[in-house]
Formats: sequence, C-alpha cells, structure tokens
Amino acid sequence: MREVLNRSKGMIVDHLKRRIQNEPITAIVVVEGDQTKEIIAYRPSIDDQPEYVLEQRLKPYADKRHNLLYSIEPNVESEAFLRKFDNIYHILPHPLLFRRDSIKPSTQIYSTDEEKAIIEDTYWGSKDEQDERYMKEAIMQAQVQSGDAKPKVGAIIVKNDSIIARANRTVIKRSRYSTRTLHAERYAILQAQENREDLTGATLYSTLEPCLGLGNNIESCSDLTCSSGISRVVFGVQDNFNFQGRAVEYLRNNQIACQKISSPELEEVLMKLKGKHNYLPKGVFA
Ligand SMILES: [Zn+2]
Repeated sequence: MREVLNRSKGMIVDHLKRRIQNEPITAIVVVEGDQTKEIIAYRPSIDDQPEYVLEQRLKPYADKRHNLLYSIEPNVESEAFLRKFDNIYHILPHPLLFRRDSIKPSTQIYSTDEEKAIIEDTYWGSKDEQDERYMKEAIMQAQVQSGDAKPKVGAIIVKNDSIIARANRTVIKRSRYSTRTLHAERYAILQAQENREDLTGATLYSTLEPCLGLGNNIESCSDLTCSSGISRVVFGVQDNFNFQGRAVEYLRNNQIACQKISSPELEEVLMKLKGKHNYLPKGVFA
C-alpha cells in the first residue's frame, strides 16, 4: 500500500506542476488495491460547481470502498460524499480551512519540503511577475500609512494593466470622540467608484487577506469586492487570526479568482506590515 500511495502522490505532484494559467488546482487519486485507477484534477476557483463535478466523477468508485489520495482537505460541500470512502490519505491540510469537525484523514503522506511547497503553491500561490510588480505597489501604499498602528495594509486596483486606485488603511476622525477606520481594500474600491471607473474584470491587490463577516450587518471588504465587478483578488499574507483564509474561500465561492502572492522576497516585508494583528477591535470597522 505504501508503494502505491507514493506512486500516486508522485502523480499528484506531477499534475500540479503542470497547472494551467497560474490557476490553483487540487487533485485526487482514486486507489483500488495496489492499482491507481484515476486522477481527478479540478480548479476550485474557476470550474463551474467543482464540488458537483467532483461528486459525479467519484460516484462510480463510491460503492466499492476505494481509497482516495487527496491533495488538500476536502471542502464542506464534498465532505458528506467523501465519507463513503474507506480511507482518505490526504497529503496536505486544506490551506483555507481550520474546521474542527472535518474528516480526519487516515494519514498525511507528504514527505519532502519540496513536495509540500509544490502542493501548497499550486493550490493558491501566484508566481506571476506582473502580480509581483503590482504587489510591490500595494506594499508601497502600506508603507506610507500614517501612524504606527498595525496592521499596515495597502491596496491597489488594476484594470487593463493600469492602476486605477491606490489606498491604505486610513483612520478618519468623525468627531472629537469617534473615529472610523477605512480598510485599504474598501477605500480603494470606493475611490474607484467615486471616479466612475468601471471595475468589471479588474484585479484587487491587497497586502493582507481581505476581511469577511464583521458582524452587525457591516459590509466587509470581501462583500464589497463581490458586488463591485472585480474578478480577481491577489493578496499578500493570510490573516491568521481573524479570517484564516475564509475570505479566500468566500471569494472563490462567489466566482472571484483569488490567490496569494508566492514570493519569498516579499514575504518578509508583508509579514512585517501585518505585525501582530491578532484581534478585532470593537467598532472601528467602516
Ligand atoms: Zn476590510
């Protein structure tokens, strides 16, 4: 069994290396006895109803209790179906989900750092040079944010290869006693809208994963992005404490391609800008 799993894992890694157009892919290998039956690859951010397609393709295998080698932890939508399988050997925990009640994989079998990096990067990393160039512009916005408060966040919006809005996280004084904080992403979108820019098909670059679900019926940056016409989001670092990649999943579920920049060169400065931002201060979100 170990041998067939290793062989199948090799297939997944090869498959992921050949990903198309910088789009994230996940892959599943169906294993029967010592045979590799099929490799199923899909693109969670752009395939139409990927979970449904996945279910259809796995259906023929469900009755006979095959094993599955999964490149990432399954989504909520596919999970009930996947429970029909004997064993799930997944090789990488889902980079976006931290659910306590999710399927416990039989084992995690990635073995080398290189394999792990390929799988992680393929799922959501962007190594595109243009993305990197624009992320540097967003970083410059974050760096000129006034005050010392963290996180420092910069955002820009790009359409047809030109920057149509730039912003950083900005505190606006409303009265002597109250201030409101405009998130960089929100501020950039509002500016573009104010200038009557058509955001259809535009890309939002943000140094931090956009916010999601702030409560109290406050529209989050992710919600605003979804209603703006923006079709792609590239962000710098994950918001570990507050949103933990949930915004990424939310955006993808709303047909917005979403990727994290994959650049060791930028990682350090992006982490520094984020700082120890580990709480949601009450009442400061615009
Ligand atoms: Zn926000």
